Amino acid sequence: MFLGPPGAGKGTQAERLKADLGLTHLSTGDLLRDEVKRGTPLGLEAKRAMDAGELVPDAVVVGMIRDRLVGDAAANYLLDGFPRTIGQAEALDAMLAEKRAPIEHVLLLSVPREELVRRLGGRWLCRNCGKSYHETFAPYGGEPCEATGGKCDLYQRDDDRSDAVANRLNVYEAQTAPLVDHYGGRGLLRRIDGERGQDEVYGQIASAIQGG
Ligand code: AMP
Repeated sequence: MFLGPPGAGKGTQAERLKADLGLTHLSTGDLLRDEVKRGTPLGLEAKRAMDAGELVPDAVVVGMIRDRLVGDAAANYLLDGFPRTIGQAEALDAMLAEKRAPIEHVLLLSVPREELVRRLGGRWLCRNCGKSYHETFAPYGGEPCEATGGKCDLYQRDDDRSDAVANRLNVYEAQTAPLVDHYGGRGLLRRIDGERGQDEVYGQIASAIQGG
């Protein structure tokens, strides 16, 4: 499980880890954006909260995760962006007890707030391959899209606008940060310095996992 504020690099690191370990990646943010794109009732319900940088109600998100976790008994999962509240963590505990599946690692990616604001403000994503670029730190240089082979079709997420960014960071502190104690108390938490470069962060993740 990846824990950490928006912009800490959870999605980027998850892409790499899932490829290396053959994990099934469950990102509630990606699942919700897909519902919004398809205009489903769930997507319509979620969109307002997402655009404002607020959390979608627990029942909606838990239901979405339950459908996936129950669907495939054999898979090993990488949870990215879930749980985000104590209520979601308790629902997850109950689902996993039912499946007799343990949480093996909780990786907390820490990044100072000023750096998160910088990262989220300049972030651009490709609509087709999902790759993430940054105006200053990782500009798009015209390389071929991993999904289409053409040029990447870049867009800025609505919730990466500055008012929504501030709200998302406040929501993280108020509602998600308490999960650090929830999992820390169970000896599951590994702290990762997310301010380092991508390769170094990945190295820390790999050794945290190997260390048990
Ligand atoms: P993310 O891509 O993880 O930053 O998520 C984007 C947005 O989707 C968040 O700001 C929330 O509005 C919503 N969202 C994603 N995951 C959750 C969750 N576990 N609980 C509630 N809302 C979520």
